[in-house]
Amino acid sequence: MKIYNTLSKRLEEFIPITPGKITMYVCGPTVYNLIHIGNARPMIVFDTFRRYMTYRGYEVNYVSNFTDVDDKIINAANEEGTDSSVISERYIAECRKDMQGLNVLPATTHPQATKEIPEMIDMIRTLEDKGYAYKVPDGTVYYRTRKFTGYGKLSGKNIDDLESGHRSENHALKVSGTEGKEDDLDFVLWKPKKEGEPYWESPWCDGRPGWHIECSCMSKKYLGDTIDIHAGGEDLIFPHHENEIAQSEAANGVPFAHYWMHNGFLNIDNQKMSKSLGNFFTVRDIAEHYDLQVLRFFMLSAQYRSPLNFSDKLMESAKAGLDRIKNAVSNLSDIIESGADGGMTDAEREIIEEAKRQQERFNEVMDDDLNTADAISVIFDLVKLANTATKSDSAENGVTKEFASTLKDEIVTLGDVLGLILEVKEETLDSDIERLIEERQEARKNKDFARADEIRDELLSKGIQLKDTREGVKWTRI
Ligand code: AMP
Ligand code: ZN
Repeated sequence: MKIYNTLSKRLEEFIPITPGKITMYVCGPTVYNLIHIGNARPMIVFDTFRRYMTYRGYEVNYVSNFTDVDDKIINAANEEGTDSSVISERYIAECRKDMQGLNVLPATTHPQATKEIPEMIDMIRTLEDKGYAYKVPDGTVYYRTRKFTGYGKLSGKNIDDLESGHRSENHALKVSGTEGKEDDLDFVLWKPKKEGEPYWESPWCDGRPGWHIECSCMSKKYLGDTIDIHAGGEDLIFPHHENEIAQSEAANGVPFAHYWMHNGFLNIDNQKMSKSLGNFFTVRDIAEHYDLQVLRFFMLSAQYRSPLNFSDKLMESAKAGLDRIKNAVSNLSDIIESGADGGMTDAEREIIEEAKRQQERFNEVMDDDLNTADAISVIFDLVKLANTATKSDSAENGVTKEFASTLKDEIVTLGDVLGLILEVKEETLDSDIERLIEERQEARKNKDFARADEIRDELLSKGIQLKDTREGVKWTRI
């Protein structure tokens, strides 16, 4: 597997710290609103990376945080006249729903900043002990940026160029807590509380952490001092990831992450997405018009580092593309039901050989820095093979069940690696469930417990769990 490493600025062979295992941290969203389609891009592409590496036999420990204390969350809470935890918990729940719709697997751990405050205080204390942090009179704690000799190594920025930029920025904003700040480049690790804001006690003052420290702490706590991969959108390279490196490496004394992966930005009709331009879409907005699988498919139609343009036209063509694949899978399913019995014909065996070569090509392009665009074209090639082989009526041309099932498995498996659900599973309708529950009640009344149990097990196999309560039988999907 070759990965483009933002740190070395070149493609590198991926070598994990522990053979067969991957530790990976992906910066997650700030939860003050429904997630937008830009936020969905890192979720989808790094979930695909995780799925692919799992398919290649790695055990992936995947951590992605929710930033649940931040100015935007506090503002949203003040507007609603509620607590900021009400806002963050609500949008974490909504984000999880969107992730499910996008078929993004839950992370191994989803830490939240507000639940890791003692760890952050510990790390800031370590930085202070080592001379990398200092407190100013109002209680703000700063990171002493210039003391970290590697500062700028990720973003490729020169520390002296940064200084002038920061100075004018600070002067323009009249940032509070600047009295006693040693250098304009120094960034906040801890800040004092303000009226109406959540706060925690600390050795410096009642207050809350700066943004960057949470990722350094959570990565250390859940994955260790040095991890394989740290990832996020390219806007995070500077200052967020640069600051994370400075904090973690100064505190832990070892390299922070071996590989840094960054996704390119998603634009709308070739413009930056923004509320003021009126071209801002949440994942929920898209879900009103499309199955979210189409959004996932669309996001994977470009390699993750390229900029990606979103438009109605491109979404329509993504929908058509995904439908084409699903139709081919559905045709193959029909043949599995009604095709010819017996072993594959020689011609079919040849096609399967070709399909196996395509599967190898899928691995090759995915090994090339996760080229999902080419991986999708491999799936289209398989669809072409399937459509050519099955184009006339299966009974007439005698396509075998074995052929259809082998080819279908391959397409569905590769789709699954990309997190695309290609097989339409028959949904158990609520009315069917109700009917079976009634039948089970009837059987129980007649003391036909064998039949009653049979029905319970049948429902269970369809993902329906029954519970006998005082109010009667209740069911849930599992
Ligand atoms: P935020 O909630 O702004 O911290 O963003 C969460 C994640 O979404 C980060 O990895 C960002 O880099 C990423 N992100 C935000 N906007 C976009 C966009 N338009 N395109 C791609 N990634 C984005
Ligand atoms: Zn982060």
